[in-house]
Amino acid sequence: MMAAPDKAHWVVRMNYRNRTFSGLLLFATLGAHLVDRGAGAAVWAALALYFLVFPHVVHALGRRAPRPLEFELRTMLIEAVLFGIWVAGLGFPAWIGFIMIVGVILNLVVFRGLPAFFAGAGAVSLGLLAGWAALRTPVATETGALTTALSMATLFLYVMAVGRDSYTRAMRLHRAHDEVRASEQALGQRLDEIEVLQAQLKDQAERDPLTGLYNRRYLSDAMGRELARMAREGKPLSVMLIDIDHFKAINDSHGHPAGDACLVRLGGLLRENIRESDIVCRWGGEEFLIALPTMSSRTAGERAEWYRAAFERQVAPWGDALPRPTLSIGIAGFPEDGRTAEELVAAADARLYRAKTLGRNRVEGAGDGASKLTAA
Ligand code: GH3
Ligand code: MG
Ligand code: MG
Repeated sequence: MMAAPDKAHWVVRMNYRNRTFSGLLLFATLGAHLVDRGAGAAVWAALALYFLVFPHVVHALGRRAPRPLEFELRTMLIEAVLFGIWVAGLGFPAWIGFIMIVGVILNLVVFRGLPAFFAGAGAVSLGLLAGWAALRTPVATETGALTTALSMATLFLYVMAVGRDSYTRAMRLHRAHDEVRASEQALGQRLDEIEVLQAQLKDQAERDPLTGLYNRRYLSDAMGRELARMAREGKPLSVMLIDIDHFKAINDSHGHPAGDACLVRLGGLLRENIRESDIVCRWGGEEFLIALPTMSSRTAGERAEWYRAAFERQVAPWGDALPRPTLSIGIAGFPEDGRTAEELVAAADARLYRAKTLGRNRVEGAGDGASKLTAA
C-alpha cells in the first residue's frame, strides 16, 4: 500500500525531513561522544527521545497547527534553546557545539532571513546559560577522533541538504515566474485579438458589405449630430437621395452580378468625389444618400448634376451596349425643407419621386435653379 501524500504545509514537511535526517546524524555524533565519556542510561534515554522521537512529535503537532509557519518558527526557536542546553550539558564540546549552533541558526535564517540570526543566537545563548546554570557540567571541549569526524560529516550533510532545498525552491519559483509571464503574454495576445475583432464588428455594424459605404443606421446617427452642429453654427446642410433608374430592368437583362457591379461603381464614384466632411451611405437597394454639411441646396444641385453626368458617361459593367444606366436625384436642404433627418429625407424622397415622374435621369429640388440643372 502506498503512503498517503503528506498534506502538511511545505515548511512543516521540509523541516520534518531535515529534522529526522539531522536527528539521526546528531544521535550518532552525540552517541559517539557519550560512549567516549561513559554516560549513564538517563542521558542515553534523553538522547534517543530528543533526536529520534521529538522530530515525529513536532511533525504531528505541525500538521494540526492552524498557522504552520508560525508554529515552525516557534519550534525552531525552542530547538535553539534546547540545543544550547545540550551543548552546556555535555560540557561545551567544541565540535558538537559548533555544528549544533550553526545548524539551528542556519535553519532559522533559511526561513526568516538575517533578522532570525539574532533571534537564533539569543535563543542559543539562553539555552547555554540555562544548561550551564542547571547542570554545572565540567567544561571539556575536546572530542574523540570518531566524534570529530562524525561532527564534520553531519555539518557537511546538513549544509548540503539545506543547499539542495534552496535550489529546489529557487527553481520552482523560477518556473512559476516563467509560467506567469507566459500566461500574461497569452492574455495580452487575446486582448489584442479581441480589440481587432471589436473593431471589425463595429465596422460590420456600420458598413454595407457590397459597396463598403456606411449603412443607413450609421448615417441616421451621424446626420442627427451634423444637424445639431449646423443649427448651432447657423449653417445649411443638404441631403441628396440618389436612385439608379430602371435598376430592376438592369438586373433582368444583364443579370444580378452586373447589377451588383453597377452598385459598386456608383459607390466608388460617390466616395471618390465627396468632401471629407460629407457622409455617403447606401440607403438601401439601389438608393444612396449623401449628407453635405455646410452646403446649400443650390450648390448641392450642382454637385448632383455632376454625379448624374459622370455616372451616365461611365462605360457600363456590361460594356458599351445601350442603354447606359442613369441616375435620378432628389435634394432637400436644412433648414428650409425640414429640421430633422426624417423630414429632410422625406423631402428628398418626394423630389426623387418627382424626378422619376418627370422622366428620370434628372436632379430635382436644388433650390431655385433645380429645373435648370436637369438633363436636357
Ligand atoms: P426606378 O427607375 O423607378 O427606380 O425603377 P427601378 O427598377 O430602379 O426600381 P425598383 O424599386 O422597382 O427596383 C429596384 C431593384 O433593385 C429591385 C431589386 O431586385 C434590386 N436590388 C435591390 N438590391 C439589390 C442588390 O444588392 N443587387 C442587385 N443586383 N439588385 C438589387
Ligand atoms: Mg431605381
Ligand atoms: Mg429605388
